[in-house]
Amino acid sequence: MVENFNSSLNLRLIRKCPVCNTAYQQSMIQVLDESEFGVLTYATCNRCGANLLAKFASLPQGVVGNAILTDLKPQEVMDFASNDSVSDNDVLDIQYMISKKELVSNLKKLI
Ligand SMILES: [Zn+2]
Repeated sequence: MVENFNSSLNLRLIRKCPVCNTAYQQSMIQVLDESEFGVLTYATCNRCGANLLAKFASLPQGVVGNAILTDLKPQEVMDFASNDSVSDNDVLDIQYMISKKELVSNLKKLI
């Protein structure tokens, strides 16, 4: 059960760039998505240009967060976030292609 999510408090947890250790200005942090499950933020370092994507969720035991460095732009992050989830059949299709050694050739057709 998610309760009393306080995004302004959680945004203050994003303090320094993990690449060059420069302190973030709060204005450099964008909130891309916010829901009952948490908040997705995107911060760009004004010194080294690294982009940090971070997600926070407030759980009864406290705030849980994870972050990754990315070269995606904010709009690209949201484009991927809105895609359909992977289905059971998607996984079986990939397994079948791997067993037939067709995965790489099929992926090349998509490019
Ligand atoms: Zn940096």
